[in-house]
Amino acid sequence: MSEIRCIYCQSQNFVKNGIYRRVSDNRKFQRYRCGHCRKSFSEQAFKPDYRLRRRNLDLLIFRLLAGGMAQREIARTVGICRKSVACRVVRFGEYAKVKLKSYRDQMPKADLVLFDEMETFEHTKCKPLTMPIAVEEKNKKDSQLFCRKNRSKRPLGENLQEKIWS
Ligand SMILES: [Zn+2]
Repeated sequence: MSEIRCIYCQSQNFVKNGIYRRVSDNRKFQRYRCGHCRKSFSEQAFKPDYRLRRRNLDLLIFRLLAGGMAQREIARTVGICRKSVACRVVRFGEYAKVKLKSYRDQMPKADLVLFDEMETFEHTKCKPLTMPIAVEEKNKKDSQLFCRKNRSKRPLGENLQEKIWS
């Protein structure tokens, strides 16, 4: 209850204001009314599937995305608009960011961190990338991943170097 804040003014001064039943799956949810701005909101406002009409497709779309299927192909397969898939990609990303932050907050601070580095390329060998990674020594979990664009090792004309990375 203390984590919930008014979605309009971030006030924690609110009271319970009835229950509503969601049409898509007939589940009940608590509504609240803010004592500061007098607007009402529900506990659903903090969920990743807030205001989605076809939330039952989320797991399927996530699995298809994780399997490497293109967004347009997912839209054709599932039978929804291409923009709906793109919208869900953004939602999944925001939800993953929140989950990662809460996971990191639970973990103890690292005592010893090891650094490693790998080189790869993006699209062509003319676009080399360096990927330094910081690994926590105790539980071998990657703490931080950085990515840096390098200049090509091959002698390229100055105009071509600028053109490749622009
Ligand atoms: Zn408010």
